[in-house]
Amino acid sequence: MLPAYDLDKLKYATDGPTFEKAVGLYGSGKVTRFQETLDGFSAVVLGSKPYSVFVEARHFDRGSCDCFVGQHDTVCKHMVAVAICAVMGGRPLGDEDKRVVGQVTCSGQLGELSAEKLAATKKAITAALGYIRPYRGPSRIWFGYQHSLSGGCNRLSALVGELPVSEQTAVLLVNLLLRLDRKLREGGVDDSDGTVGGFMEQVVGMLKEYARLDPACTRAFHALKNKDTSFGWEESLLDLIK
Ligand SMILES: [Zn+2]
Repeated sequence: MLPAYDLDKLKYATDGPTFEKAVGLYGSGKVTRFQETLDGFSAVVLGSKPYSVFVEARHFDRGSCDCFVGQHDTVCKHMVAVAICAVMGGRPLGDEDKRVVGQVTCSGQLGELSAEKLAATKKAITAALGYIRPYRGPSRIWFGYQHSLSGGCNRLSALVGELPVSEQTAVLLVNLLLRLDRKLREGGVDDSDGTVGGFMEQVVGMLKEYARLDPACTRAFHALKNKDTSFGWEESLLDLIK
């Protein structure tokens, strides 16, 4: 039986620290006696004592664990570790698998990109945007499709996190947001999991940090005036240039 979730789904639906601890448990062989049951997966996860864990095949966040957290109806690291084991089928996790996703962090370094680096970055952004494509069904490819959306957002997160802070790169980020917005409004992208929208919110947060670090960055926000966007994400940036 295959789980109805994949690794990205686990990452997005779990808080970072819990996911990282679960990765640690799985990677160090603490998930033992893994078994498929009728509707899910059971295992004994070794912690400060052995815990009996069960997760459903349809929803990784439904199951049980006899640890303190699990007994309070909260998804614990043991349940996530068993879900990872189900997804990976015992194979080791790669570095990219382990990376906690969706965290857009500002480089905090003031500066501009060279013309060469700017052109290369624009090209890389366009390539990453290619993963954020329209959904054309059928429903059985849904998880593969979500994987593509989160893959695109991961690539974009890595790219924008490396940018130095200046009006030049603020313009780049504003253009990226407008391109993503167009994909959401007209591009047939099905973002019902909020992957793309969540990424956009984080870029908006990063642009606010840009404005704090270098007020000249706010000049880039003028391009957002009088735009009819998908969910009003630009409003907090426009507030900064009122
Ligand atoms: Zn537990």
